[in-house]
Amino acid sequence: MERKKALVTGASRGIGRAIAIELAKNGYDIYAVCKSSVQILNSLCCELENEYGIRAQAIQADVADAGSIDFLFEQISDVDVVINNAGISYIGLLTDMSEEEWHTVMDTNLNSLFFICRKAVPFMLQKRKGKIINISSVWGNVGASMEVAYSASKGGMNAFTKALAKELAPSNIQVNAIACGVIDTEMNHGFNEEERAALCEEIPADRFGQTTEVAALVMQLIQGNEYLTGQIITLDGGWT
Ligand code: NAD
Repeated sequence: MERKKALVTGASRGIGRAIAIELAKNGYDIYAVCKSSVQILNSLCCELENEYGIRAQAIQADVADAGSIDFLFEQISDVDVVINNAGISYIGLLTDMSEEEWHTVMDTNLNSLFFICRKAVPFMLQKRKGKIINISSVWGNVGASMEVAYSASKGGMNAFTKALAKELAPSNIQVNAIACGVIDTEMNHGFNEEERAALCEEIPADRFGQTTEVAALVMQLIQGNEYLTGQIITLDGGWT
């Protein structure tokens, strides 16, 4: 039987890398995408192929750019699962943010969903089957000071998830999002020890989440119930 194919954006490190590993472990062929760290992505794909006997292809693409996504899909013959994970943060006062910085956050975190889903969905419609999982943030639910653009982009991602889920439910394609709390990745390596400790104190689980915990939830959603769609599932150790 032909193996199922999963596209993971931002797979070179952090949450995306953990998701790509989990999918490969579960027998999926992987299209691993990132913007610039191609060497890292190539070696991840080699590791996945050797370890799990699947096919893994590293593809350099900028999710913020529609033309780059069109080029990405020229290299894809089929896709069963899409994980929209690539994202960037911006921390600072709204009044200090330039128009260019605003657009970069929106293009990367939100417009990318449009660029990717409009290309991936036709493959899923043909089979009347498919899963789309968007990696969102608790800030998309509740908003964060100094992260207005990021919060708005993730809030948009949540609304996109709910709306597309309704559009695709009649075609048996499920669209869900995971709203992460603080996950221990390079995105949070700006915190010093004191700040990390203060943040942990706010989180009832008393620790940051692990990338493998996000990946495990992604896998549960993929393998799970076809009636579960349009949901924003919060994974934050009880924080928000
Ligand atoms: P990270 O910075 O460690 O990794 C981000 C990945 O996205 C990298 O592979 C990077 O190359 C890729 N990427 C960035 N811009 C890209 C672009 N324009 N085109 C293609 N690839 C691009 O981040 P992470 O912590 O692993 O976060 C992954 C996702 O999870 C993001 O969407 C982030 O908003 C979300 N998230 C993370 C946390 C957290 O605490 N780490 C919390 C909530 C949500």
